[in-house]
Amino acid sequence: MTDLAGGVAELRERSPFYRDKLAGFEDASFEDLPFTTKDEIRESLAAEPPLGRHLAAPVEAVRRVYSTSGTTGDPSYIAVTDADLATWTEIGSRSYAATGIAPAQRAVLTYNSGPFVAGAVLDAWQRIGATVIPVGSGNTERLVKAFQILGAEALGCMPSYALYLADWCRERGIEPRELGVRTLSVAGEPGGGEDATRHAIEEAFGATVREAMGIADVSPSLWGECEEQAGMHFCGDPYIHVELIDPESDAPLPFDDGAEGELVYTALIREAMPVLRFRSRDRVVVNAKPCSCGREGIRVRCIGRTDDLLIVRGVNLFPTAVREVVASFRPRVGGPILIRPAHTGVRQDAAPRVLVELAEGGAADDDLAAEIRGALRTTLIVTAEVELVPYGTLPRSEYKSRLVDFSGSATR
Ligand SMILES: [Zn+2]
Repeated sequence: MTDLAGGVAELRERSPFYRDKLAGFEDASFEDLPFTTKDEIRESLAAEPPLGRHLAAPVEAVRRVYSTSGTTGDPSYIAVTDADLATWTEIGSRSYAATGIAPAQRAVLTYNSGPFVAGAVLDAWQRIGATVIPVGSGNTERLVKAFQILGAEALGCMPSYALYLADWCRERGIEPRELGVRTLSVAGEPGGGEDATRHAIEEAFGATVREAMGIADVSPSLWGECEEQAGMHFCGDPYIHVELIDPESDAPLPFDDGAEGELVYTALIREAMPVLRFRSRDRVVVNAKPCSCGREGIRVRCIGRTDDLLIVRGVNLFPTAVREVVASFRPRVGGPILIRPAHTGVRQDAAPRVLVELAEGGAADDDLAAEIRGALRTTLIVTAEVELVPYGTLPRSEYKSRLVDFSGSATR
């Protein structure tokens, strides 16, 4: 986005939501404009159904209405016009090309053409020129056949699903490496960027894992990781403006090498639902080194969602980081973990319980539990009660894996 000021002026004209929100900020510089949060979008949808006060295009121009899987209450709707879809396809094709999706490659896609924006990834793969084989989620048998019969070479899925798939195959006497998966393009949760999880997937399939990342309210894919496998390149220029901020002080941060913060997006080009300084809640670390692939977009690695954060005795604890530490104990442990906080809420004054699945056929092992507890303390500076549970007892998900379970937590 080259002309932010001009774009913001135009936004006031066409969006009643932003006209109100920006009242009093007429002379403010861009960095002083207010953030937009997901809660505000939800409030706007509720206040003026069906598509909210932030709808900035005629409702007749809306071509698709996606929704997000809201944790509470009604779904949050995301409307897009033809032009919005074209932009998504353009950005998505760059992101996924970076991850190794290539022309004429037979590529299996597990994202459903259902309610979620991930379904729009199909358009991006088609734009790349891949031979797309959509199988949707919950269709593991059909997916395996696509490799065995159609000779597919690439797979797009969530990282937790890739681990599930490897287990599924082994339980049926199929060696995952023999499927012929060469390229694994993962998205939807941070696992693909965690070393131990990535290595476990690469090892299981004999394939390369690279990740892509997007956000429903902005674009289904915005970032894609190239062959250097050292973070995802930003692929949204010039359609999307991205900022890094300190999530505690809200202050802008430069994209310096090693900087850590929350991503904030501005999408003024969007016709139906433009967003200004939208808080992603995604925490990332920046890799600002030049890349041998020639792409100039800044690189990031996602380290977790602010929404999943627990603060245990003053220490930040991302559940994905716990999973990462536990995964380093493979093959003695299985895939899934589940964190059971002592009580509800973000701030915890007692050690949470961490349930860790043993490997298939693994027996109770006090030493292993103590080793994992020690690794969590050393790596994350957090004390946790580690409980080993038999293989196959924690819920497996073909979609986003749930890492925290408050159902047994005391209420405060
Ligand atoms: Zn690169």
